[in-house]
Amino acid sequence: MGIDKLKVLDKSLPSQVTVSDVKIGDGAFAFMAGPCAVESYEQLYTALLSAKNSGANILRAGAYKLRTSPYSFSGLGDAGLEMLISISKELNMPVVTELPSTDHIELFKNVDIIQIGARNMQNLPMLNAVGKTGKPVLLKRGFSSTIEELLLSAEYIINTGNTNIILCERGIRTFETATRNTFDISSIAYLKNRTNLPIVADPSHATGLSELVRPMSKAAIAAGADGIMVETHPHPENALSDGMQAISPDELNALSNDIKKYLNIESKFL
Ligand code: PEP
Ligand code: MN
Repeated sequence: MGIDKLKVLDKSLPSQVTVSDVKIGDGAFAFMAGPCAVESYEQLYTALLSAKNSGANILRAGAYKLRTSPYSFSGLGDAGLEMLISISKELNMPVVTELPSTDHIELFKNVDIIQIGARNMQNLPMLNAVGKTGKPVLLKRGFSSTIEELLLSAEYIINTGNTNIILCERGIRTFETATRNTFDISSIAYLKNRTNLPIVADPSHATGLSELVRPMSKAAIAAGADGIMVETHPHPENALSDGMQAISPDELNALSNDIKKYLNIESKFL
């Protein structure tokens, strides 16, 4: 079957995903922020509070970190998930976090957006399982996956009857090593033309460098992204994972001002 016939490319699909009282897509911008990993209650609370104070509308953090190296910090697991859910309730904001396996689906019943990480984009049992929950899903592009493969993974979810899918461009592997990945900005513009599904950019994993998060967020907005997801840490230099790409609370504030400015400028041109 040709890619053109995919349900994910059907222009009658809803172009907005609703998460509690936050909307994503069709002019509604998602600003997702939080630390890479839950490290402790205090670190998480401080990071998420600064995200809220900066104007983020969705919180993020990883409780289960599926790291490339078995010797890297792998998160606090179930205890981290509990902290994350409890702080998101306290701050009255929806939360997105990564599902580590199909066995965890039941534990994720209080998670607002279930994240499928880059390493699991083609984990078909997981795509079916998140689809069946009916919950919004943030589907991250695998770092060696084509746009077509991303769409085919989204199609697995849609085939369960769940259309609450948000695609995420998080950078791909190329010959370039100066940045952690190569931020494929053209995929954002491409996907915006082809599908109604909202698309969010992750400039943190895409570049691996905190100083590139602001400029690449602006680039993502210019390309038509419906949101960004960024990593922040109260003390990036002490982060247990991905510290190089974490922005400080001050930088998060500056980014928030950029977003407001760029969204306004864009809307003036529309
Ligand atoms: C993340 O967003 O926490 C993450 C691990 O990203 P990715 O799956 O894109 O590497
Ligand atoms: Mn990370």
